[in-house]
Amino acid sequence: MGACRHHRYAAATNGLAVSPGEHCGHDHAGSALSLLDPTGVREIAGRLGLRPTKQRGQNFVTDANTVRRITTVAGVRPDDVVLEIGPGLGSLTLGLLEVAQRVVAVEIDELLAAELPETVAARMPARVGALDVVTADALRITELPAEPTVVVANLPYNVSVPVLLHLLATFPSWTRGLVMVQAEVADRLAAGPGSKIYGVPSVKMAWYSNTTRVGTVPPTVFWPVPNVESGLVAITRREPPPTTASRGHVFTVVDAAFNQRRKMLRSALAGLAGSSKAASAAIEAAGLDPQSRGEVLTVTDFARIAEQLPS
Ligand code: SAM
Repeated sequence: MGACRHHRYAAATNGLAVSPGEHCGHDHAGSALSLLDPTGVREIAGRLGLRPTKQRGQNFVTDANTVRRITTVAGVRPDDVVLEIGPGLGSLTLGLLEVAQRVVAVEIDELLAAELPETVAARMPARVGALDVVTADALRITELPAEPTVVVANLPYNVSVPVLLHLLATFPSWTRGLVMVQAEVADRLAAGPGSKIYGVPSVKMAWYSNTTRVGTVPPTVFWPVPNVESGLVAITRREPPPTTASRGHVFTVVDAAFNQRRKMLRSALAGLAGSSKAASAAIEAAGLDPQSRGEVLTVTDFARIAEQLPS
């Protein structure tokens, strides 16, 4: 059993073991039996009569190498409790179950959520007990069956940013993350001040974390094949900037600054301050230039301005 990653980890962390000769459900020579490939995805989708919808951002990974790459880059460890959003047919879930102690998977689609434990039972039977499926909208979840240590997900593209921000705000226990999003969104999330694509998602992510783009995933590894490339984003949580302003207030200032991106800060924040004169005074009191634009400010700058504005 020494060659089986799952049983080595499971034995170390959960006391699970497989007797010599017992079938463990894993292909010890490779990934073909346990992880999903195009045939496996087609088989499950066909059986369920599944028609992937754009509205739910349903593009399923059909490539085991991509799954392995994601779990490796994510640095998932045997003691991790992984939060996965949108497990879909289970492509990534199975890869995560190979290495993590536990996986909590939140899926909005009832058909997919119901099928997931069946898929794991068929392909990785010893790991069924390590999976919790929560049938819910990830944008609304406030409770989970276990405290996640890491988030790993191929996020539904249409809600990827709000889902990430919701998870960061709601579940402080996770300190590391690796998510797949549209390449363009990946760049926005990781952008720094001064860049053309720096905006609300970049600043809000910077409130919680260091966010970096760590890879590209081609459309060909998905079914159905999307029109755009995907990007991998690594998230490392850190303390928010020290400030007396609340997160909500800072985010209101950020929203206002970028709502009128072309405008100088003093005009963009006039509504919040009461007048552009009051906005100028607040920005100056924060040690910043009222004629600058939001796109050059760091999250710490925004926090300083928020301290000077009425909440
Ligand atoms: N993880 C799977 C994979 O990599 O093959 C599927 C990823 S697919 C891009 C996104 C998944 O998120 C779909 O299964 C979809 O049903 C689910 N989803 C969409 N919106 C959601 C939401 N608001 N909350 C939870 N899951 C959602």
